[in-house]
Amino acid sequence: MAFIDSQPVVETIGENCHMVEFNFTVNNYRDISSLDFIREHRILCERFGTEWTVWILFQKTDSNEPVSCIVSISRTDDEEIKVMVSLSMLLHNVSTLACSDVLDVPATKTAKDWEFQKYIDPLLQSENSAILNDGNLDVKFCLTVFDCHE
Ligand SMILES: [Zn+2]
Repeated sequence: MAFIDSQPVVETIGENCHMVEFNFTVNNYRDISSLDFIREHRILCERFGTEWTVWILFQKTDSNEPVSCIVSISRTDDEEIKVMVSLSMLLHNVSTLACSDVLDVPATKTAKDWEFQKYIDPLLQSENSAILNDGNLDVKFCLTVFDCHE
């Protein structure tokens, strides 16, 4: 059975930004039928603590088909401020150091209720991909928020 192991969310605060990393492992990737990772995160900002929901859905409509993925990000706070956000998602194998960028969204201006969605099909070209580590997939999703405290 496929399941997700997640690590604690890590937020790093920079001079004019907050970098938030979501790291998790999809165990038994080949057995996915439908599996999701969902986290809400409030930015640790002294001025405007914007809030974000990250929802990453992995699914396979047919057992012979490759896994596809829907990445959905939404801004869920009520702050009247506009902030810039950039997004990226990296698949990587910690043993072989193989990696693949599957999402790279440059800084975009966002107001409250902003939503983003991307469909990635297939997520991996092959289930024998070198990205898989003993059948498991390591995922790093990064959300960076700019201009909230400067
Ligand atoms: Zn801030």
